[in-house]
Amino acid sequence: MFDSLSDRLNAAFKRFKGHGRLDAKNIKDGLREVRLALLEADVHFSVVKDFIERIKDRAQGQEVLESLTPGQQVVKIVHEEMIELLGGTTSGLDLGTKPPLVIMMAGLQGSGKTTTSAKLALYLRRQKRKPFLVPADVYRPAAIDQLHKLANELGVPAFASTADMNPVDICSQAIEEAKKQACDVVLLDTAGRLHIDELLMQELQAIKETCKPQEILFVADSMTGQDAVNVAARFNELLDVTGVVLTKMEGDARGGAALSIKSVTGKPIKFVGMGEKLSDLEVFHPDRVASRILGMGDVLTLIEKAQEAIDAKEAAELEKKFKRSEFNLEDFRSQMKKIRKLGSLEGIMKMIPGMGQMRKQLQNVKMPEKELTRIDAIISSMTLAEREDHKLITLSRKKRIAAGSGTSVADVTALLKNFEQMQKMMKKMMGKQKQGKAIPGMP
Ligand code: GDP
Repeated sequence: MFDSLSDRLNAAFKRFKGHGRLDAKNIKDGLREVRLALLEADVHFSVVKDFIERIKDRAQGQEVLESLTPGQQVVKIVHEEMIELLGGTTSGLDLGTKPPLVIMMAGLQGSGKTTTSAKLALYLRRQKRKPFLVPADVYRPAAIDQLHKLANELGVPAFASTADMNPVDICSQAIEEAKKQACDVVLLDTAGRLHIDELLMQELQAIKETCKPQEILFVADSMTGQDAVNVAARFNELLDVTGVVLTKMEGDARGGAALSIKSVTGKPIKFVGMGEKLSDLEVFHPDRVASRILGMGDVLTLIEKAQEAIDAKEAAELEKKFKRSEFNLEDFRSQMKKIRKLGSLEGIMKMIPGMGQMRKQLQNVKMPEKELTRIDAIISSMTLAEREDHKLITLSRKKRIAAGSGTSVADVTALLKNFEQMQKMMKKMMGKQKQGKAIPGMP
């Protein structure tokens, strides 16, 4: 996400940071680079113009010129202005309204509307809500099946729409049905077209009139850049949407849509889609995203992801196992799987302050991913008894495991050796903790 924009901006910042003192010329040169970086990232040109003007005004003020670290002051201003550009504060959904909360999803075909409806259902259930999914796209019969399949996968109830029904009737009947089933959030997955189309807009307006949704979320594919912004503006004119969901953000290196949409439409980004899996939906936090773009990391999101992946009870169990030296290869593998759920190692590194820019120097960052896959394959080729007690693994067993995992006996031996070293280290650390000695690098 935002990789190329981030790299360009960091190069521009070097111009500011290199100077002990900043004068009008240094500021102008640096800002020219920032401007180019934003234009290259496909940010709307009028948005870029205003953004640069605001920074220039502030950078030439007293707070910067009298500062001992003027370069860093300018970067701080860019950071603050970028947070504003992305929407200022986190918007989220207004879950406080009288149930059922009706959320209408709208957007072009292929933008990710159906997938996002299901992702939102999962998100809402995690917030202890009872979502109800409503397929209302009767023109693309596969869309109804697609949402029913996703609802099944999640175990979330869905309305039994059929392609011969009228979409407005579907939505109004579905809301009644949701009430009967005591569901408190209704998600209307409306139809999309390849382009904006009068008839479709009339249908969406009719659904809005009848169902009075508290939220109308416009879903757009972030990879389409300024097209997404233009379509958002049009949908907003006709439907007065309450917010935007940008999908496919994980693959968007430029970020033009994310940086322009709030200024152009006046409507905030509420969520972003970060992959095809149903759990790949994130609440959009302008401050955290600005930090990620500027290579300052995003520790809060990392902590939240880790908390989702590893629950407290399990962590306490593991600690006990460490203390009793019972941590075995099976535990090791299950922990490794959880860490991988946090995303790619490269993605994790970008959330750690200062590591984002380092990732390029570490050319082998992709390596650990491969290494993890290999370790997983080796452990999977062991029997449960072997995983629980790796001392059972004799040479003939190593040969079997190597053949099963497509590796060599040397690989299996190396893994076991590393694992033993890790066990020893854990034991030592736990011992020190018991004696109340501080362990370097541990909180
Ligand atoms: P709809 O026509 O608007 O309902 O779009 P769909 O929900 O069918 O999505 C179109 C395609 O985009 C599907 O292949 C989805 O898996 C994919 N998709 C949706 N959201 C994301 C996302 O955040 N990241 C990625 N990589 N793919 C997504």
